[in-house]
Amino acid sequence: MMSELIVGIDLGTTNSEIAVVRQGRVEVIFVTPDSFMLPSVVGLDPANQLLVGDAARNQYMLHPERTIRSVKRQMGNEVRLNLGVDAFTPQEISAMILRRLKSVAEAYLGQAVKKAVITVPAFFSDAQRRATHEAGEIAGLEVVRIINEPTAAALAYGEANSPLKKNNGESLQNRVLVYDLGGGTFDVSVVLIEGDVVEVLASHGNNHLGGDDFDSKIVDFLVRHLETQGITTVRSSISAMARLQRAAESAKIILSNEPFVTISEEYLLEHQGKPVHLNLEFSRQEYEDLIAPYIDETMEAIQTALKEAGLSVRHIDRVLLVGGASRTPCITERLKYQLGMDVHAEVNPDLCVAMGAALQGSIISGDHRATVLVDVTPYTFGTSSLVPGTFSETCYVPIIHKNTPIPVTKTSVFYTILDQQKEVEIDIYQGDSVYLNENLKIGDFIVNGLSNRPSGNEILINLTLDLNGILKVTATEKRTGLQKSITINNAMKAADAGELAKVRQRIDELSGDADRSQRHTPESELTDADPALQRLKTEVQELMEKAERMLPEIAAEDAEEMRRMIQALKEHLVLNATALLQPLMHELADMIYYLQRN
Ligand code: AMP
Repeated sequence: MMSELIVGIDLGTTNSEIAVVRQGRVEVIFVTPDSFMLPSVVGLDPANQLLVGDAARNQYMLHPERTIRSVKRQMGNEVRLNLGVDAFTPQEISAMILRRLKSVAEAYLGQAVKKAVITVPAFFSDAQRRATHEAGEIAGLEVVRIINEPTAAALAYGEANSPLKKNNGESLQNRVLVYDLGGGTFDVSVVLIEGDVVEVLASHGNNHLGGDDFDSKIVDFLVRHLETQGITTVRSSISAMARLQRAAESAKIILSNEPFVTISEEYLLEHQGKPVHLNLEFSRQEYEDLIAPYIDETMEAIQTALKEAGLSVRHIDRVLLVGGASRTPCITERLKYQLGMDVHAEVNPDLCVAMGAALQGSIISGDHRATVLVDVTPYTFGTSSLVPGTFSETCYVPIIHKNTPIPVTKTSVFYTILDQQKEVEIDIYQGDSVYLNENLKIGDFIVNGLSNRPSGNEILINLTLDLNGILKVTATEKRTGLQKSITINNAMKAADAGELAKVRQRIDELSGDADRSQRHTPESELTDADPALQRLKTEVQELMEKAERMLPEIAAEDAEEMRRMIQALKEHLVLNATALLQPLMHELADMIYYLQRN
């Protein structure tokens, strides 16, 4: 007998998604030919036609009085929301979104959709949950269960699907931290999973913080930039502001993979009878500085949630990222730094809540076998660079990290070290060791003909890995666009025994430690007695001493920053948090290098 169909719906503040389990696989359903996400926006056009999704979002700037956004924030409130000449309850507006998702799913599946699991934030009150339930019913759906968003995320990650058992048959406990940063809301939840029972122990956040605020910061920055050029009327031009808003969002998304973006808007507006064009290079560093206070706030929320759950960081087994804005790279870096563990983003953060809801639906309908399949790279790929401040020591710089969903493209920026340097050699490695020589070199090439520049000439290295394991490497001199590429087929092929033996032999020769040929310890398994860990600790110690010697001679704010880094390194040394030592070391080495140069 076919099990009954129960869809999963993530009814989000900014976007909503619908997913279903068929033949043991979770499928998210396209709502437009090229997107799984339906903007959670409802409007009436001037002819009183109902608009849901992109069309409603597009008219928002021109007809805000005929458009409703972020209705989720109103759920459970006794209010009526104006839409043209009519007024509706939040449940009714949400029902319009749900109805659209239902009909999209029916068209895709070729059958009626009658039952759904809908997700809500963990902090939703009873009234807000009841309103969500009611919205489903108005849309013609039987809401078989309302589940918490972090619970759905944990299900999508398979955390709760495969009950782990101890030898005595008891279930193992797993504590997961779910960091969820969407377009307009942020929350962090501590989730306890025992077998297939998932419980949210604490949830904390800010209902008015998300990727949209990041966009606004960029818009402010762009407006200020134009104002410094004497163009003072930008804010009063609705269409210019709407264009800046869109440009800001796409720049933000590009900066998740690239170190720089060029924001270019021709004929943005007219000022004193002349056209104004915007053309500005914006770096990831500038962007991260703008959003730093928001990121700080989310980090503080983690501590509050842990405190409310009566736990500390060391009790957490896994960290999961949810929500589109959680793709911002500095968030992963901060979380790794603060929590001392890897952060998981393998399941698409925009879609994992809907996927988890669909899994819950399939469990309710009696099917327990479904899992979320994701294509991820099993290897880290990176390049080598001189250790800042030295002219002979090289270190490994990962660019694409293992467990990143593929296809993926990432770019990092590097700098020449010599004045008038004419060429750079690019070496590409596969591997996770912090030591360059313990990784496998899979390709190299030389870019020559660089322009005559002082040291610090920027070279962009882009790695693009496709589903077939083909890695394309491109090096570009940023200033001139001079470019050279190589393609490495089979980049995801596991290193064969012969190649590995060669790598090990090289390490043995270098370290003079014959024992190591018998034993190759991954970095995460390093123990105190391990010579590699000892070596790392000695290097860290030396670097900290060098930094401490510089403290009296540098500016007060640099010294404060340096002290913070030294303190963080000390803490990680005590915890043996080796995965975090390397990036911190680089950060401190970079600072020493630049201070010495200037
Ligand atoms: P959600 O509410 O989960 O759909 O998240 C939407 C937010 O995620 C919006 O602010 C998007 O601009 C943002 N977003 C989507 N993709 C990315 C990305 N690659 N990097 C940074 N932000 C993103």
